[in-house]
Amino acid sequence: MTRKIFDTVIIGGGVIGCSIARALSKYDASVCLLEKEEDVCSGTSKANSAIVHAGYDAKTGSKKAYFNVEGNKLMGKLAEELDFEFDRNGSVVLCYSEEDMPKLRELYERGITNGVEDMEIISGDELRAREPNITDSVVGALVANTGGIVSPFGLTIALAENASENGVEFKFDTEVVGIKREDGIYTIATNNGEVYAKTVVNAAGIFSDEIHNMVCEDKLHITARKGAYCLLDKEAGGHVKYTVFGLPGKYGKGILVSPTVHGNLLIGPTAMDIDDKFDTATEAGEISEVISGSALGVKNIPYRLTITSFAGLRAHEDGNDFVIGESKDAEGFFDAAGIESPGLTAAPAIGEHVAKLVAEKLGADEKKDFNPIRKGFLKLSEKSFEERAAIIKENPLCGVVVCRCMDVSEGEIVDAIHRPIGAKSLDGLKRRVHQGFGRCQGGFCASKAMEILSRETGIPMEKICKNKSGSEMLSYKM
Ligand SMILES: Cc1cc2nc3c(=O)[nH]c(=O)nc-3n(C[C@H](O)[C@H](O)[C@H](O)COP(=O)(O)OP(=O)(O)OC[C@H]3O[C@@H](n4cnc5c(N)ncnc54)[C@H](O)[C@@H]3O)c2cc1C
Repeated sequence: MTRKIFDTVIIGGGVIGCSIARALSKYDASVCLLEKEEDVCSGTSKANSAIVHAGYDAKTGSKKAYFNVEGNKLMGKLAEELDFEFDRNGSVVLCYSEEDMPKLRELYERGITNGVEDMEIISGDELRAREPNITDSVVGALVANTGGIVSPFGLTIALAENASENGVEFKFDTEVVGIKREDGIYTIATNNGEVYAKTVVNAAGIFSDEIHNMVCEDKLHITARKGAYCLLDKEAGGHVKYTVFGLPGKYGKGILVSPTVHGNLLIGPTAMDIDDKFDTATEAGEISEVISGSALGVKNIPYRLTITSFAGLRAHEDGNDFVIGESKDAEGFFDAAGIESPGLTAAPAIGEHVAKLVAEKLGADEKKDFNPIRKGFLKLSEKSFEERAAIIKENPLCGVVVCRCMDVSEGEIVDAIHRPIGAKSLDGLKRRVHQGFGRCQGGFCASKAMEILSRETGIPMEKICKNKSGSEMLSYKM
């Protein structure tokens, strides 16, 4: 039996793997993406601050700085092509004392050196005139007008769908457990059998050290750095317009307060190094830290409107920078490893860069029929009354509201299930059409959404999961 050898196998379906997949789909190459979970955007890419950083924070000359600024520049065009939620709302860094003002100026200067445009330093009073909920203790602020907010799910899923439409194959529930290279071909052992490739891209997030170390002698080491958040209801969404940061500290950018593209208010994250790469539980102490940290710069935050808390894990590599490029001791093995913040921002630029390196290695030419356009999810809540009426006339399921908090209809859920990389779980629906994303967190609509998922996919009700296998929603005894 002849075995299929892909030109490239990408390991990991987070924002980085999907961005590389989409960029590689511009080339004449066969590409397969392996993801251990049941869907894309199931790791760190689903749990972060969702900020498109301007690029003043990262050390000048680092890969973080370069890819941050380049990724920020690419985000606007990408959002137009792929139709995901992105808003250049601007970000501010607060300074609480005159002694610390030089640190703010240092950030400004670093931003200039890194290539960030459109920044200004303003007084506390000027900021309060723009942003009334800023506390009186703020004496000055750095405003970065190129900063933005994005839907991390929207971005990742859009990249994956467009990659799929342009020929990339996705294999889910497929965990890579070993890699070896013989006669110039990589054999990738998974829980679902072997996959073969001429080149491999490692985009496995917090596990990218483990994947790298399966192949390379120069070992990597990644520490999971946990960050916890509170998400507040839409009623609090307008509390600030800018994304509000404190001055950065040893472990990163500190606690922020930000609107989200979905209209909520996000506060967090904490930063703590942990041993367990699966620990995304939120603890009471972390929530207290989020609350006290956010109150320093922003007053009257209506904490009682918190609808959920969550945590994400930063992939902190010992070298404190992104590890990107072909391994020195494994030809055809490319890393996109240790991609901690600003990885979400940097993703479009990392995708293009890595795809170019891989295409050069393969000698692959650009395709003539690459289609850069992807149409976003059906979103009735954004339509006018007349537009909604016309859509419902055509598709009566769009008139059946399933999720009342987020105003999501059965028609939108069915659309999300039948797209190129369709939703198979409740979390899959949540990330695509925001069913179960609101105040009740699925308390009222989960059972109806499960019925629709089961009907449309043929998965029996008792096998419908929250996310991966083992998270079945129903438990029963025969
Ligand atoms: C608290 C926090 C806040 C952040 N805030 C921001 C921000 O505001 N702005 C910003 O730009 N960046 C931010 N980041 C960083 C950003 O979220 C990450 O850089 C980005 O999501 C990393 O994407 P990734 O694809 O590398 O990793 P992931 O999204 O984790 O994807 C890796 C994928 O690989 C899969 N995988 C792992 N091992 C295997 C295996 N053996 N076989 C198959 N599949 C495997 C995983 O299941 C996962 O889906 C933040 C991160 C955190 C944690």
